[in-house]
Amino acid sequence: MRLRNVPGARDDIANSPFTVKNETDCKGKWSEIFGNDHPVYIEIGMGKGQFIMELAKQHPENNYVGIEKYSSVLVRALEKQAEENLSNLFFIRMEAENIVEVFEKGEVAGIYLNFSDPWPKDRHAKRRLTSVQFLNRYEQILVAKGHVIFKTDNRDLFNFSLEQVELAPNWKLLNHTFDLHHSEYVKGNIMTEYETRFVEKGNAICRMDIMQEQMNII
Ligand code: SAH
Repeated sequence: MRLRNVPGARDDIANSPFTVKNETDCKGKWSEIFGNDHPVYIEIGMGKGQFIMELAKQHPENNYVGIEKYSSVLVRALEKQAEENLSNLFFIRMEAENIVEVFEKGEVAGIYLNFSDPWPKDRHAKRRLTSVQFLNRYEQILVAKGHVIFKTDNRDLFNFSLEQVELAPNWKLLNHTFDLHHSEYVKGNIMTEYETRFVEKGNAICRMDIMQEQMNII
C-alpha cells in the first residue's frame, strides 16, 4: 500500500465510532460488541476497505471486522463508513501478529486475506500472512472447519502459501486457481482496490480456499 502520511489520522481513528480501541478487551466479547451473535468474518490487511465494506453491505446477516496496521490507510475506510454507516462492520488498527489476543477460539467464522504483503526475503517468510506461523494463529481463533480465502497476483507468494498449507497439519486445501477471473470461482467475486489495479494491468489473480480441520482423531 502506498503510504502517504495523513495528518490527524491517529486522532480520527481514536475518535471514530466505527473503530475498536482497546482491542484486547474485546476477546470473547464480540457478540456483545455487535449486539447479536451473528458469525464474525475478518479481513486482515484490508487497506482502504473497499472489499470488506461491499461484503458487509451484501451480507447484513454476518458481522465483519477489518484489520489494518496503518492509520493513514484505515482512515480512508472510516471516511467511507461514515457515509455508509454499516452496523455490522468495525475496524481495528493493529498488527495481525497479535490476532490471538483479540479473538477467542471459535469467535471468527472465516478470514479473508487480499493482496497481502509479499515479504520477498527468505528471512522474513514468517511475516507472510499465509506462513505456517500465521496459520497456527488462525487456528486459535477460527471456528471448527473455518476457512481462509486468499487472493494475490504474486505467484511466488501464492506458491509459498500452497506449500505452507501442505506443511500445516491441520489445514486442507479445498480449491485453488491461478487465474481467478477466467475460472468458475469468479462468480460473486468482490474486487479489492489492488485487484482492480492488477486486473487492469492484465495480471492473473490467484485464489485459494483453505479449511482448518483438526486431524487428531481419537
Ligand atoms: N486488501 C487490500 C490492500 C492490500 S495491500 C486490497 O486488496 O486492496 C496489504 C495491506 O495489508 C496493507 O494496507 C498493509 O498495511 C496491510 N498489512 C500487511 N501486513 C499486515 C499485518 N501484519 N497486520 C495488519 N495489516 C497488515
